Amino acid sequence: MNQHSPNQLFKSMSPLSVHDIIHVWETGQNQHPLDKALTIISAAHPEIPRGELAKLTIGHRDKCLLELCERNFGSKLKGFAECPHCSEHLEVDMSTTEFRNLKDSSSDKNGDTLEYNIGDIKINYRLPNSIDLAAVAECKEVKSAYNLLVERCFVKAASNEKEITINQLSDDDIDKLAVYMTESDQQAEILLNLQCMACNHTWQITFDIVTFLWKEISDQARRLLQEVHTLAFSYKWREKDILTMSPVRRKYYLEMLT
Ligand SMILES: [Zn+2]
Repeated sequence: MNQHSPNQLFKSMSPLSVHDIIHVWETGQNQHPLDKALTIISAAHPEIPRGELAKLTIGHRDKCLLELCERNFGSKLKGFAECPHCSEHLEVDMSTTEFRNLKDSSSDKNGDTLEYNIGDIKINYRLPNSIDLAAVAECKEVKSAYNLLVERCFVKAASNEKEITINQLSDDDIDKLAVYMTESDQQAEILLNLQCMACNHTWQITFDIVTFLWKEISDQARRLLQEVHTLAFSYKWREKDILTMSPVRRKYYLEMLT
């Protein structure tokens, strides 16, 4: 990842083309969210092997997705939520400027070693990436997921300056470290404060950029295919030619059909 440091990735990112949008949508349909995220970033960076993108920490991955979301759909985002108190359906307006903490807090240090102390034990670990989370996703129990995550991301540990192995950590230490590890990638979490217009209830939700961006891409892909269908049906034009047209021209032809 040296030649493709996370910050360089964001700078060189261009919006997805209509072809990319449709390709991502048809490829990612039945993929796990971890793979969907990589499919989206791969479309923006086809020159980087997918295996390399999978090594981005989850925080850096999400930063990439947020950047891409902004470049394709603008900085004003619209989402929906249900009030947990009165079940009212709310429209949530968000601005990517609210997520600046996430975008600006990023260092350029993907995969750097971090430190966590439990009593006199000093543990060095790295932040989890997509490959780690995919491995952990297969665990059936939380306990085995914690163990695997720590095993994968553990770098070294010392107790009173004396090096110890991962096997010398207690179950309790492993649990603490696993929780800390997932929480310490602060860039990976965006919290939104919501208030219900109907009952004034306030609560907090986690904004999931993968789900959000996937929905935006799916909606746009379906809209594009609908346009292709209408124009191809009426004018007998080819899909490729319709998609190569500028959105303005496509819209003009569509308006003439209504
Ligand atoms: Zn409510």
